[in-house]
Amino acid sequence: MFFFFAGGIENQVRQVVKSGVGRCINCNSRADLVEYDKVLKLFFVPVWRWPGKDTLLYCQDCKFMFPQSHSLPPPPSSGGTTLPDALRCRFCDRNVAADFTFCPYCGEQL
Ligand SMILES: [Zn+2]
Ligand SMILES: [Zn+2]
Repeated sequence: MFFFFAGGIENQVRQVVKSGVGRCINCNSRADLVEYDKVLKLFFVPVWRWPGKDTLLYCQDCKFMFPQSHSLPPPPSSGGTTLPDALRCRFCDRNVAADFTFCPYCGEQL
């Protein structure tokens, strides 16, 4: 006779630490940084639960959990490389603080 061990250890999300910190390595959607519990299940009934050591990334879309070191960088936010609080002098083409009225490099009015 065989005894089928109908159980196993499962990771369950305890709480979301920070949302949208990475991308799912499985389906590429946004993944959240979560704390998790390890849950031992026997015959699909949780019998024991203890906190996991580290945080993991969790994808809500495909219910996939993976270490943060494996994650892809989060999707780039809008803006790019331009400085939000600076403008460019149209005469000498240098970056000037946005609250300047005159360019400190060439003296032209901005
Ligand atoms: Zn996913
Ligand atoms: Zn200038």
